Amino acid sequence: MIIRRMEQQEKKTVTYDTVVVGGGIAGVCAAAAAAKNGSKTLLIESSTFLGGVVTMGPLEALMTQYDTERKVIGGMADELFEFIKEQDYQSGNVNDTTGYCNKIIPYQSESVKYAMLCMLNKYQVDFLLETTLVNAYVEDRVLVEIEVQTKRERITVVAKAFVDCSGSGILGYYSGCDIMFGDENGISQPVTVLTKWGNVDKQKLREYVRMHMDEFTSFNAELDLEAEFLHLWGFSRTLIEGYEAGELSLRREEMHLMESTVPGEVILNFSRLGIDPYDAFAMSKAQFDGCSQVYELFRYFQKKIPAFKDAKILQSGYVGVRESGRIKGKDVLTRQDIVSEEKRQDIVAMGAFPMDIHQQGSGMKFERVLKGYGIPAGALYAEHIKNLFMGGRCISSTFEANASCRISVTCIATGQAAGVLASEYQEKSDYESLVAKTRKVLIQQNAIIQ
Ligand SMILES: Cc1cc2nc3c(=O)[nH]c(=O)nc-3n(C[C@H](O)[C@H](O)[C@H](O)COP(=O)(O)OP(=O)(O)OC[C@H]3O[C@@H](n4cnc5c(N)ncnc54)[C@H](O)[C@@H]3O)c2cc1C
Repeated sequence: MIIRRMEQQEKKTVTYDTVVVGGGIAGVCAAAAAAKNGSKTLLIESSTFLGGVVTMGPLEALMTQYDTERKVIGGMADELFEFIKEQDYQSGNVNDTTGYCNKIIPYQSESVKYAMLCMLNKYQVDFLLETTLVNAYVEDRVLVEIEVQTKRERITVVAKAFVDCSGSGILGYYSGCDIMFGDENGISQPVTVLTKWGNVDKQKLREYVRMHMDEFTSFNAELDLEAEFLHLWGFSRTLIEGYEAGELSLRREEMHLMESTVPGEVILNFSRLGIDPYDAFAMSKAQFDGCSQVYELFRYFQKKIPAFKDAKILQSGYVGVRESGRIKGKDVLTRQDIVSEEKRQDIVAMGAFPMDIHQQGSGMKFERVLKGYGIPAGALYAEHIKNLFMGGRCISSTFEANASCRISVTCIATGQAAGVLASEYQEKSDYESLVAKTRKVLIQQNAIIQ
């Protein structure tokens, strides 16, 4: 018998040009964009696979490359969607039958996981899975190195520039940045456990909706029940009746349902829990409470709606955090930036998703965005750290603005821009020339920035 003892923790140092923390959709696209721009790049992800919320979800659909008139997000989004299409030919832009967005992209988590690996492989990005950022060292406002923990060893990672795509702004937090959280009262959007059900009868679902049209919201003239991928916002009276009858313990007046690219499969966005996303005990318990809400809904819908009679629960997602820490940048994206049509010279990414606030309790507050808006470089650049950039949902934004820019496809755009900013960063670069060079590279990479 051979007995292997755990040796003393080894100390190792690795050096890169650009290091990205967080392998969600923003981080993968940040790392690919930096590497495409010639940077030796490392991506660090604490989970067992890539994709963050997009693959641990499941989400209704990827939203959105288009405003009401035109495409506003290209670049890495187009590249990633090509890889996804190679695995799942049905995935692609379709009309949003709720009319909330112009176009959305139904998808399968599994194809996105592989597509992301293909993208990192194409650009030769090194990546570490199951590796967690545990500390950061700052000297004279420069982030010099970070420490990460693999399952077995502690590694020091030195780089010229860093990108925080951790969702919650953890690298910014370790680097001493100001972190913004929640609305003016410090309250964030609720967390949710999404769920995927299979063996749903598509025809019976359409019949049910036709018979209960008054329960469904549509921003289009009418709900297109012939669409291949039905996206629904409603079930209002049915949910209230379930609550009043004691079958559902969560009172909701509306929920979302989206058909996936596999026949008979739907994603449901129903559960809601008003907890602090930084409280690890509350977040862990929320997995149980969220799944319990999902199972209650499942039992209720099986009895109530013929389309779900023979359905099966295929997946309960992890506890999805809509928003947590946002790192204070040199600039802060606000509602005014989203609604104004001002054309600024420092725009590095665009978005077009509504400001979509899931309220604590039952309601929804939203403001639609009909025209794409620009995201300035300063919202992706930490206020006091010279070589720290951010992409994805932790960018510098107010609560309302974050309710729009946190959506997955906008996270691709901010991730790409943050990756290029980091790869273009030089110790002596001044802000204006860094932004000008970055915009040039982004255009070469087919990103849309105006
Ligand atoms: C319930 C819910 C429903 C949503 N529905 C939709 C929808 O239908 N359509 C849509 O387009 N968008 C939707 N969104 C929004 C969107 O999916 C996310 O906001 C977006 O994907 C965030 O991407 P990200 O890369 O910024 O962050 P994340 O996906 O959160 O990725 C961050 C990554 O960083 C890693 N990480 C964190 N800390 C560390 C650390 N210390 N060390 C190493 N790695 C770390 C995490 O493991 C994670 O993989 C939804 C979000 C939620 C929560």
